[in-house]
Amino acid sequence: MEYSLQVLKITRNRIQLLNAMNIFTVKDLIQHYPYRYDEIMETPLHDEQKVMIEAVLIDEPKLFFKGRLSRLTFHCQYHEKILSVVIFNRHFLKKNMKTGMLLTITGKYEAKRQTIVASDIKLKSIRELEGITPVYSLKEGITQKSFQGYVKKALLFYQGHISNIIPDYLCSKYELINRAEALNKIHFPELRSDVIAAIRYLKYEEFFRFQLTMQYIKINRTQHIGISKMIDKEKVDRFIERLPFSLTVDQQNVVEDILLDLSSSKLMYRFVQGDVGSGKTVVAAIGLYANYLAGYQGAMMAPTEILAIQHYHSLQKLFKRTKVKTVLLTGKLSVKEKKQLYSQIENGEVDIIIGTHALFQDKVVYHRLGLVITDEQHRFGVEQRKALKDKGTKVDFLVMTATPIPRTLAISLYGDMDVSTIMTMPQGRKEVITKFIKSTSMKPILKELKAYLANGGQCYVICPLISESESIAGRNAVDISKAMASYFQGQYHVGLIHGQMNDEEKNMIMEDFQKNRIQILVSTTVIEVGVDVANANMIIIYNAERFGLSQLHQLRGRVGRSHQQGYCYLLSEAEHQEQQERLEFLQNHHNGFEVSEYDLKQRGPGDILGNKQSGLPTFMVGDIFKDFHILEIARKDASNALKYHLEDPKIQKMLAEIKNNLLMNNEYID
Ligand code: ADP
Ligand code: MG
Repeated sequence: MEYSLQVLKITRNRIQLLNAMNIFTVKDLIQHYPYRYDEIMETPLHDEQKVMIEAVLIDEPKLFFKGRLSRLTFHCQYHEKILSVVIFNRHFLKKNMKTGMLLTITGKYEAKRQTIVASDIKLKSIRELEGITPVYSLKEGITQKSFQGYVKKALLFYQGHISNIIPDYLCSKYELINRAEALNKIHFPELRSDVIAAIRYLKYEEFFRFQLTMQYIKINRTQHIGISKMIDKEKVDRFIERLPFSLTVDQQNVVEDILLDLSSSKLMYRFVQGDVGSGKTVVAAIGLYANYLAGYQGAMMAPTEILAIQHYHSLQKLFKRTKVKTVLLTGKLSVKEKKQLYSQIENGEVDIIIGTHALFQDKVVYHRLGLVITDEQHRFGVEQRKALKDKGTKVDFLVMTATPIPRTLAISLYGDMDVSTIMTMPQGRKEVITKFIKSTSMKPILKELKAYLANGGQCYVICPLISESESIAGRNAVDISKAMASYFQGQYHVGLIHGQMNDEEKNMIMEDFQKNRIQILVSTTVIEVGVDVANANMIIIYNAERFGLSQLHQLRGRVGRSHQQGYCYLLSEAEHQEQQERLEFLQNHHNGFEVSEYDLKQRGPGDILGNKQSGLPTFMVGDIFKDFHILEIARKDASNALKYHLEDPKIQKMLAEIKNNLLMNNEYID
């Protein structure tokens, strides 16, 4: 089915241009869908609005030149109104304009002067123009018209090969049009309803294929393709007994899941989620220890250098009384240090390697890599997974995330993983006292802040913007930090940190904050996934309505991590009742899962996942955020298909294709 573009007899030159747009085959061409449609339709006259009307020319147009610029004016009759029309730099229109003819005028209407400042004039009636035109995103050198020509050829060529993919029982259930029709209609619609029907089909197909793929991978993974590791249960138990605390029930269950995965012949691909402070690190450590006892190396990857260092220290402490050798590998090491470390890793002299992305560079050769754990999965995408796979065959994989995701969302997006959840916090942990303050300034809480600082505490201040913005209202970190620095001059040091700084600057500021050389840290959300500063127990968030609830919950998780009481102030003068209710919800709820469930119900998955997160699957037509309900429906349908409709020829064909793709992409399957 992958015919090259040559079959369409397009010139070599043009083929190169298409290649530059990532279009290499006939199929690619057909799957380059329009990104919008222009619709020609008469609009009513509304003051100050863009309008499109049909009117009769009633006088001779007048043309004025000023240098090379021109202005054409005339009058026309529109129902009972006489309108004057002006258009610039279209002098060439004049010679074909005859009084009494019908014109289609597009432009901005001004009621007071009964004028249209036109952006386009067609010497035709609207009826002759009406229709819907696709608009493609194209590289320079290819016009919309010529691209449409190629697509037309491609569809003609392909027509005979397009067969339905979605089984009939599903097509009729959702009243989907057939595939060939959908592809024709998305490129050559006659009506808007054609586009809607086409997109409806294509989204469902895309999501259904995705879900079928995920579930297929999962079924395969659970069938004997991992290594069955010998777990020394006694030693692991002794390790757990010697911890300075006893595990919570949830932690015990997750440990159980992990040990089962390690010892079974299936490949582990598990997702552990739990709020900040719920105790994921120790769970990871137990997994790494069991893996070590079985004779394998383990690696733990963090998204930033600071976090890697933090994990390194935590793990070193936990492994203090064992023979486990842990090392830290980051991009910061000198060439010599790295070289030495690489050889230790390769010889198997070290057991657990903690680091950043540096862990997966080509130069790092592992001795016997058995388990990889990554922290904060949203920062890691498919590429990392691939890189990881190249580091050893049959490596068990554990992902930890502090972004609690509702179960439906997790299995819809990461359907190929198993999910473990740490729902409850260790005993004795205090809830962060959260207060929603109706204000855009700090005034109402200044007294509390001063008392808190006077007591030796440190504080985070979060702003939605880095610097002043013309288009977006909201407090900005640069101005707030200046204002606070001058207010507290001679008393406290104020630091500023934001996403436009480079890593080195950020690390320096964070270090200053950690060492209490800075008492007030003004920041954007860069600290969201971040460091543990035990002495920082107050966080003040400006324009809190501007953040998603899950994000606010994450931010709140920065404080109250030691045994001290944490405080979170949500400043907002949001007008909407819904916004106020959301902030009140956060004031009264402290469990991340409750927060994210609420967020999902109220606002869909966008706020929970953030918009630019890597590691999310990408779709051509479907939108994870807007079309989440379709994704969920497709998940259930795929699951049913694998249970009850395996004999359906279309399902069989789809599965064969999926298997082929997975093999080509070198994914783990039998
Ligand atoms: P997370 O990685 O989930 O944010 P950590 O693993 O860093 O949380 O744990 C936070 C703190 O709680 C650590 O100081 C850790 O030692 C402690 N901790 C973990 N589990 C327990 C437990 N079961 N009881 C008491 N303290 C615990
Ligand atoms: Mg952690």
